[in-house]
Amino acid sequence: MGAVPHQRTGTWIPGVGEQERIREVLRLAELDDAQRKAVGLPPKAKVDWVGRKDGGKRGELAAGLLVEMETRLAARYKDCRWKETAGLLPMSSFEGAGRAAKKAADDLFKAWTDNAALTPNQLALRRRPAFVGSGADANLLEVSDFSDRARARIPITAYEQARYTASLCADLMQKHHFTPYGGVDEEAAQFLDAEVLRPFTKTHESTLIACERYGFAITEPRNGLIFLSGSLEGWKPSDGEHNPLVAARKWKAFTKLLHEYVHTLQHPNLVHVGNQSQTVREGFCEYLTQAVIASLKALPAHDAYLQELDDLVTGGFGLSAVPQAITGYTTPSDYVTYVADTRTFVREFHENALYAAFFQGHTEFLGFRLETVAEPALPARGDVRPVHVPHTVTTLADLAGYLQIPAEALVADNPGLSGDRAAWPSQIHAPGFRPHFVVINRPDDEDEVAVETPALAAAQNGVTPDVLQAHNPPYDPARPPSWFFVPTT
Ligand SMILES: [Zn+2]
Repeated sequence: MGAVPHQRTGTWIPGVGEQERIREVLRLAELDDAQRKAVGLPPKAKVDWVGRKDGGKRGELAAGLLVEMETRLAARYKDCRWKETAGLLPMSSFEGAGRAAKKAADDLFKAWTDNAALTPNQLALRRRPAFVGSGADANLLEVSDFSDRARARIPITAYEQARYTASLCADLMQKHHFTPYGGVDEEAAQFLDAEVLRPFTKTHESTLIACERYGFAITEPRNGLIFLSGSLEGWKPSDGEHNPLVAARKWKAFTKLLHEYVHTLQHPNLVHVGNQSQTVREGFCEYLTQAVIASLKALPAHDAYLQELDDLVTGGFGLSAVPQAITGYTTPSDYVTYVADTRTFVREFHENALYAAFFQGHTEFLGFRLETVAEPALPARGDVRPVHVPHTVTTLADLAGYLQIPAEALVADNPGLSGDRAAWPSQIHAPGFRPHFVVINRPDDEDEVAVETPALAAAQNGVTPDVLQAHNPPYDPARPPSWFFVPTT
């Protein structure tokens, strides 16, 4: 796939009601009254945890969670327990599957990832050799290995697996208006710990440990480590790797590593959008994984691209058809709901909004402005959606010049422009233009900041830098604007 010429096609900055809808669809935290006021929403009595003062309801919630967690854990254990006695291929056997996953994802998403504002450190991490399965620089590691997990500070503990299992019971928690995550309700967090997680850990310790070792692959995006399972039932080292069983296992690993690799392509700014939402954390990633799978599934059986991938995955074991791991791919059951949420978002707000948020940190399409809730867009007038006026535009004459709309016409359309610059509205209606929010990527643990340049913004909007520049104040990197005007015709 070549360049995507118009990555903003179909997207818009959501208005106030649309922001509410997005929070609902993506299962983001509800706004508190101060945040609601800031975006122009009336206060809303937040329904409190029904068990806060009601011992019966508390007991009901704890019992309900314990039952649902047991069911979920049993299902996961049933799927992965075979690994306890299976053979174990070394991680070096899966380096090719990882490289193939990287190639397939990069080929599909390159135009998006190439135009993301990333710091030099983040770029260096992405350019580092991925999927090294052995040696001092290994970053593809066996997920069931206690010492590798501990070294990466993702230790194998029963409690962590219990915590994860509880987090999947979102519907039940919602029913009780129970929000134990994100540090907003200390009492709820303590209740979950004492009444649910600790007793559950105690009674299911060995199963939890088994699931923590065998039930998942894990990616740590901050340092690029990927943990995978190399288990293969019925295999022993003397069988060697040049056989159909191992080839099929490697293709299966390819699909797992694809999901894990897509995690590493996520723009760092996306964590500002409710990192507690499994829809944002896993639904987005799995939705994009499915997009890669679909692109491969559509290829004919002997397609050269598939052969090329097979050379990487299996060392060219001899591919006669699209591998079963691709044709029979199913999303892990824990993620099905979150992918469905993601599809709802895509249906209502356009797929490009998801891509822009995930790969480029354009979380304004999700109603965010960096860490905070974004100012909602004004309603459209006819089919003209508002644009945001960059602070670098200082006079009405300049504004008229950049937009090539006569000043009188601008004022007639936007009466607020007749007064002092300081009193101008932040958004105006200007037919023929859309707003581009300038992403600032400021990692907590780095001095480096990456800011979207006119060149990046132009590429994302399918215009040339010259055209973008002609409609905006001269660009000063020391004082970048928050918005660009982008001509749509
Ligand atoms: Zn994942």
